[in-house]
Amino acid sequence: MIIYGTNGAHVRTAPLPGIACPGCAATDKMQLSVFSRYAHIYWVPLFPYSKPAVLQCNHCQQGWEGKSLPTEFHEPARALKKETRAPIWHWSGLGIVAALIGWGAFASSQDARANAAYLAAPRVGDIYTVRENEGERNYSLLKVVAVKVPTVDVVPNEYVIDNSHPLEELNAPAKYSKESFTLNKLELTIMQNKGQLTDVDRLTED
Ligand SMILES: [Zn+2]
Repeated sequence: MIIYGTNGAHVRTAPLPGIACPGCAATDKMQLSVFSRYAHIYWVPLFPYSKPAVLQCNHCQQGWEGKSLPTEFHEPARALKKETRAPIWHWSGLGIVAALIGWGAFASSQDARANAAYLAAPRVGDIYTVRENEGERNYSLLKVVAVKVPTVDVVPNEYVIDNSHPLEELNAPAKYSKESFTLNKLELTIMQNKGQLTDVDRLTED
């Protein structure tokens, strides 16, 4: 269940000097307050969407808002709303979403850079995530067992799974074939460009 809804918070209050209360006629007792209403999800504000103004009398404690606001207060209310900004924290949900998208883009560009570096200078133990064709969801692994620039010898994993990150499930020595075969740099580049080689992992950094 997703919990969402709307909420409001007081932003500012301004006195209206010299104005008589429409209820009790007391002067210098009127004040206008502006609130910010915002949508929230799990109580985290997503974005503000309206700024209701409330007129109050500090003498008789009456209040007016929306359609009940007397006509002569429409202009001061409009002016106060115009110069009142919703607090920045009413945007925090969208801020979090934007930060997550930014982080995702950064992480995937870092990953692509690491993949390119690993392919350019292969090491024994590098593991390539591969699939038959781009768009298919049957992934397997190739493990580098020898580097003889410009070729590498790899052993294929004997299993295929429907998961673009098969490393954790498939990377056990017993799951690899005993028979290796040779791939050269051009073949690896073509596989990468065709979306058949989707990831390179180097488990031991040294
Ligand atoms: Zn009053």
